[in-house]
Amino acid sequence: MKLVLLGAPGAGKGTQAALLKENHGLAHISTGDLFRFNLKNNTPLGLEAKKYMDSGQLVPDEIVMKMVSDKLSEFKNDEGFMLDGFPRTVAQAEFLETKTKLDGVILFKIADEVIVKRLTSRAICKDCGNVTSTLAHDKCPSCGGELYKRDDDNEVTVRSRLKVFHEQTEPLIDFYRAKGLLYEIDADKKPEEVFASVIELLHHDKN
Ligand code: AMP
Repeated sequence: MKLVLLGAPGAGKGTQAALLKENHGLAHISTGDLFRFNLKNNTPLGLEAKKYMDSGQLVPDEIVMKMVSDKLSEFKNDEGFMLDGFPRTVAQAEFLETKTKLDGVILFKIADEVIVKRLTSRAICKDCGNVTSTLAHDKCPSCGGELYKRDDDNEVTVRSRLKVFHEQTEPLIDFYRAKGLLYEIDADKKPEEVFASVIELLHHDKN
């Protein structure tokens, strides 16, 4: 199965991808994670991407496309994957069409103000990567590890990421709807409830 997880930053795409990976063995390709990995390792790609990530802007299409193209070439034709955070522009979606045939696009729907609250309190475990909230925990509730906050999870950058989402990524909703590939899910629920909707959707034919 080849899926795209679509939704605003903080809609829970990464959390759902981790659950799908664990339960269905689907590979998780997150362009944000690939950039952060490059940044951590001080690669030229990471340093270039940082210029945009810090202000919540999109990394230019050519750079993202090259990185995704390299990543997809690691997969055999029959291997399934979920793309998280890609595509984010119509140009990226058109490029993806030349690389693979998607089975579906899951749209995680959630209001902006819920996202601002979620992301400005989001914390990630340094040890196991678990995503949690600083409002509820000061250590990872799963492994006890230390929590950190992403640099771009401050209110100013979050609002700018949301603006970018509405302007540049939202057109993908109509793009994929027109192709009959779009499935919509209410993402303003607990992760396990959202996951139940994802599973229900995957087990039902779209008709
Ligand atoms: P994310 O972890 O998906 O929220 O991505 C973090 C940041 O990485 C974004 O705010 C962008 O600056 C950059 N980024 C990730 N994926 C893409 C993409 N498909 N196109 C352009 N920039 C991206």
